[in-house]
Amino acid sequence: MDRKIICPVCGSENITKKKNIRVLKSNYNDITVTRNIIEYKCNNCGETGDFNNENRLLLTKAGYELKTKETQYLIKKIEKSKLSFAGIERSLELPQRTLTKWKNGLSKPTAAGHALIRIINAFPWLIYAADEKYEENFCKILVHSIDKYNLFTEAMLCGGGGFTIEDENSIFSFYTKNTTIMVENKPIAFASI
Ligand SMILES: [Zn+2]
Repeated sequence: MDRKIICPVCGSENITKKKNIRVLKSNYNDITVTRNIIEYKCNNCGETGDFNNENRLLLTKAGYELKTKETQYLIKKIEKSKLSFAGIERSLELPQRTLTKWKNGLSKPTAAGHALIRIINAFPWLIYAADEKYEENFCKILVHSIDKYNLFTEAMLCGGGGFTIEDENSIFSFYTKNTTIMVENKPIAFASI
């Protein structure tokens, strides 16, 4: 038998049950996850909500699904660059084939994995910091160079240990060679080791 639903505010049993649709939206590429949810309304005091805790687990799972879809979308975006999955996995010390498994839905990213992919998508040059084991001076110079050369946005990852940045005025080729940061084939800074 169904448990009596009572209003958590006034204790009334005069409750109306309503079905509703909840759409979780991503910031990326119109990715959405849709769920049918239950909403209650108290006809005595007007309070509305999930009085019977029926939606919480459902929406938690929907949130995971949205994160999985986002991760898949971003990995496909990274795949279009020339940077290899193997190279990224090596730099970030992820188990081999992690990105492929996430992309194909063979395994689901953890919350940390999802965050990592979002961060790499936004700041792809962090791979170079990872390559250098986050050596402090190297990281300082890297950030300074990115700022100085305005390499921060519209990064297009490319192969050969570097990436290319295009903006309205110029195309920068940016890569590291041993511990030297190169822009347009000219060394611009040296990471001290
Ligand atoms: Zn009420």
